Amino acid sequence: MGEPLDTSDWIAVTAVGVSVASMGVSYLWGRYSAKAARDSAMSARRSADEAAAMTKLSLEQRHDDLAPGPAPAEIAATVRGGGVTDSLVGSITVPRGYRVKATAYFRTGGSTELSIGPVLHANQPVMFQVEKWPPGSEKPVTKEIRFRFWPPIEGDDVEPWSCRCGKPTGDTMDGPGHWEWRVPVRRDRTPIRINT
Ligand SMILES: [Zn+2]
Repeated sequence: MGEPLDTSDWIAVTAVGVSVASMGVSYLWGRYSAKAARDSAMSARRSADEAAAMTKLSLEQRHDDLAPGPAPAEIAATVRGGGVTDSLVGSITVPRGYRVKATAYFRTGGSTELSIGPVLHANQPVMFQVEKWPPGSEKPVTKEIRFRFWPPIEGDDVEPWSCRCGKPTGDTMDGPGHWEWRVPVRRDRTPIRINT
């Protein structure tokens, strides 16, 4: 030491300084850009999550909108004659076309499939036999009816439509319905009024 630095030494020192400084800048830039990338990945994930949540919400909303309405409080079933044996009959009305299955559950246990559908038409009351009503019958043996509904499919005699929420389609009409009602049955003795 003691000798003055010559020009080439200064250049070397300066170069080290510049390179240290630029390493610092690139280090900071690296940290900044990594954070920016992390932030943008997070915000992309957040908006993807939000989009998925909104899609799920809108699918659920659409599922609710496409439902056959809230289940009626009861099936007020009436006795109809005309056959060999009288029948206890009920009816339902739905706002659009559906595939349907109805199962009657007995007070004493057990169940039976009712003859209804398989396709319901929009706003047309459909009448179905709840059970036979032999002479002397007082009270329905049917406690409640479980209705299973599905969107109609291609080939049904109503316009097909779909609900894409992921619940069962009506292709087989086995298993759970896309929508279900469980409705108690009551014998209605109100005489049928005929408008004159
Ligand atoms: Zn649905």
